[in-house]
Amino acid sequence: MTRYYTLVRGDKIRYGCQRSGRCCSSGPNVALTAYDICRIAKYMGVDWRELRGKYIIAIIADLTVIPALRGMGDGKCAFLKWENGKPTCSIYPARPLRCRLYPFIPASPSNPDKIYVDPYCPGVGIGEEVEPPWKLLEHYYEEAKKHYKKMYELVFEQGYEPLQALEKLIDEVCREAEDSPDWVKPEYLDSLYNK
Ligand code: SF4
Repeated sequence: MTRYYTLVRGDKIRYGCQRSGRCCSSGPNVALTAYDICRIAKYMGVDWRELRGKYIIAIIADLTVIPALRGMGDGKCAFLKWENGKPTCSIYPARPLRCRLYPFIPASPSNPDKIYVDPYCPGVGIGEEVEPPWKLLEHYYEEAKKHYKKMYELVFEQGYEPLQALEKLIDEVCREAEDSPDWVKPEYLDSLYNK
């Protein structure tokens, strides 16, 4: 099992992305929220339903359904492309928040002052000392909390099946995205990095 480093507010770590593509090649393990999905759909100029199956999947676990990036047969993300011999994210400006955060990994919304670091990322230990992106982490927790609060209401209070609830939630969030609120804008999310 991976033993993550743990950082708290005030801690720094040396990190510089090496564009190894390792973080995009380990299977369908990036959980998404409705906000991630709508950002991607808007960036690609498609209805979010066109992403289903091809780029995103739904993992059903009892009464919960978790949308996630699809991993191809070799475990690489469906959005990973190769350009000039380098791994490249084909939706980079609209990449999911967990991708933006990596190699930092959310610890728990009940402890927002703690964050994990994946020690197997080749960029960890290289480059300048940086602080974890706390503002971006806060934004991630805000979106995740809204996502799961609404899912809870739809499933447990309104009686929707989990998959139906997820589709309804994504529809609602994508309608909100049509007005281009800040959370849709890549430059806004960029501005949250080490603010
Ligand atoms: S969405 Fe982009 S950054 Fe995230 S795992 Fe896929 S290729 Fe990598």
